[in-house]
Amino acid sequence: MIKCPYCQTPMQLPDPVKLNVTTYTKTQFVATPCCKRGISVHNVPRVLVRPHPTEAREDNWGSEVVASTANDITFREDQYC
Ligand SMILES: [Zn+2]
Repeated sequence: MIKCPYCQTPMQLPDPVKLNVTTYTKTQFVATPCCKRGISVHNVPRVLVRPHPTEAREDNWGSEVVASTANDITFREDQYC
């Protein structure tokens, strides 16, 4: 749950705001429901990197891939950047 940056009251963003920000990636200016102060709501894309065991010999970009299985994975945590 996010909190108001002014008064720390837990708040939920209205669904239309969240949908607009995530769909159109445009920052929205919104009044907080608790104290009616202004906040900006930003879309922050993340990139997830995880192992992809495969028998394929070529990736989506045409580069060579060495075939691998789940047993070849030595680091199992998902990584976000
Ligand atoms: Zn507030």
